[in-house]
Amino acid sequence: MGRWSYSSRLTIEECKTITAKFLNKHHYFDGGVRSGGMNWSRNGEKTGSISFMVSTVEGDEYIRFQYTQTDRNTNEKTELDYQTRLVWTPCHFGGHRWWFTCPIMVNGCVCGHRVGSLHIGRGKYFGCRHCYNLTYESSKESHKFDRLFLKMGVSPKMANKLFK
Ligand SMILES: [Zn+2]
Repeated sequence: MGRWSYSSRLTIEECKTITAKFLNKHHYFDGGVRSGGMNWSRNGEKTGSISFMVSTVEGDEYIRFQYTQTDRNTNEKTELDYQTRLVWTPCHFGGHRWWFTCPIMVNGCVCGHRVGSLHIGRGKYFGCRHCYNLTYESSKESHKFDRLFLKMGVSPKMANKLFK
């Protein structure tokens, strides 16, 4: 904790993120079982892709993720295939609003947080921002540090590497 704590925290912008908003916009919640995929890129470079299946069948609402995760240190590849429950809440103007539940295990229990977005942080699995202790790049605090590092002649990227 303290002055370097920001460098040890990932920002949401550094993570692979999937949002219920995206799925809604692309009609994955419109009924039955639908499958699709998603790609991520950062600075024009592809950083990952996943396949998923969305079921809004009553009593069996889930999203299933399938992807390969490469360990940044060992380059070891892991095939992942798991699902997490979807839940909905009624909207004021009728219809449903869909949410993910966080599938991350914390102390032997599933987190289960109802969230609008899931992220792959430092683990292999999608989880909520609480589980991965994520912060927003745009937060005032990180910009304060950015300026401090720039004054020292250190770019925020370098600072991240130095103080990991
Ligand atoms: Zn969680």
